[in-house]
Amino acid sequence: MNSKNSVVDFYNRPLHDLRISVIDQCNFRCSYCMPEDVYAHRTFLTKDQLLSFGEIETIVNSFAILGVKKLRLTGGEPLLRKNLPDLIRKISPISGIEDIALTTNGIILPKYAKSLKEAGLKRVNISLDALDDEIFGKMNGRNVKVQDVLKGIYAAKDADLEIKINMVVQKGVNDHQIMPMVQFFKDNDMNLRFIEFMDVGNSNGWNMDQVVTKKEIYQMIQETFQLEPVSRQYYGEVAKRYKHIDSKAEIGFISSVSEAFCSTCTRARLSADGKVYTCLFADKGYDLLHLVREGTSQELLTHYIKQVWNKRVDRYSEERTNLTAQKEKIEMYYIGG
Ligand code: SAM
Ligand code: SF4
Ligand code: SF4
Repeated sequence: MNSKNSVVDFYNRPLHDLRISVIDQCNFRCSYCMPEDVYAHRTFLTKDQLLSFGEIETIVNSFAILGVKKLRLTGGEPLLRKNLPDLIRKISPISGIEDIALTTNGIILPKYAKSLKEAGLKRVNISLDALDDEIFGKMNGRNVKVQDVLKGIYAAKDADLEIKINMVVQKGVNDHQIMPMVQFFKDNDMNLRFIEFMDVGNSNGWNMDQVVTKKEIYQMIQETFQLEPVSRQYYGEVAKRYKHIDSKAEIGFISSVSEAFCSTCTRARLSADGKVYTCLFADKGYDLLHLVREGTSQELLTHYIKQVWNKRVDRYSEERTNLTAQKEKIEMYYIGG
C-alpha cells in the first residue's frame, strides 16, 4: 500500500477494487441469477434512482483516494446503460485508477466494442455457459443463441480488448459442456474461467448439491489436457490459474464455494442506486447517493467510505453452509457480479 489514505478493514484487508453496477436491468433471465418465473413482473430502478455518470465519478474519486486501483463495470447488463463509453471516459483519468474492466453477456458488444476501447476500457469478461444452443438458450432464459455471444466475443477481439470467458457450472445442467468449452477456447487462444455456482441472493434455488467444485472440474479437464499452474499476479487475485502447455490459453477457477478466498478479499461493490456493499452476500448497503445529492464534500464522502471499510467483518464464503444460504441477501443483478 502506498497511498497515505489507504484503509484496511477489521481483518486487515485493504480496499483495492470497486465493482460498479451501472444498471439493474438485463436482457437475459439466467436461471442462476434472474430466473424468469421470479423476475417476469419485477420493476426496476427508474432513471432518477440511478446514479448519474457525474455522481459515479465523484464516488470513484473517493474510492481512488482510499487506494482503489481497479474498477469493473457490471450489472444487470451494463451495456444496456446508455452511453456507457462516456462513463469510461470520465473515470479512466482519475488519479490512482490503473485498470477498468467490464463484465457482459456479450450480445450488444458488436455495437460498442470499438467505442468502449477508445474510451479507455482495457478488458472484458464475457459470460457464456455452453456451446450447445439448447442448453444455453435454457440457461439464459431468453433462447439467445451461442452464435450471438460469439459475435460479441469476436467484436471484442477485433477491438483489441483483453478477453476472458466466464462459465458458471451447474451440476446436471451444463457440466457436460465443460470439455467442449475447454477445447473451443483453447483452439481460439482465449482464457476461460469456471465459476462455481453460488448462493447469491435468494431467488436461484441454490443448493450445495448443484455445485461442481473446482477440484472436480480440474480433474475432468486434466484427463484430456495438460495444464501447468500459473503463479498469482497480485494480492487478492481471485482466480486460480493454469495454462495449457501447448497453447497460450489459460484456464481459471473462481472457487468461491469450495475454496473460499475471503481472507484476501479487497473488493467493494456499488449498486446502481448508489449503495456501497462490502460483500457479495451482504444484506445491508450504505447509501452514498443521498450523500452525493446533498452536496457532501469529497473529503467527507471519503471519510464516510473509510469508516464503512474500517468496520468491515464480512467473510461469508468461509462460513457458508446450506443454512446460511437461506439468510436474506442482496441479488446479484442488483449488486453487480
Ligand atoms: N450481465 C453480465 C454478465 O452476465 O456477464 C454482468 C452481470 S452478471 C451478474 C456477472 C457475472 O456473475 C456473470 O459472469 C454471471 O455468470 C455471474 N453469476 C451470476 N449469478 C451467479 C451465480 N449464482 N453463481 C455464480 N456466478 C453467477
Ligand atoms: Fe443478466 Fe448477467 Fe444475471 Fe444473466 S448473469 S441474468 S446476463 S445479469
Ligand atoms: Fe469477499 Fe464476501 Fe466473497 Fe468473502 S464472501 S470473498 S468477503 S465478497
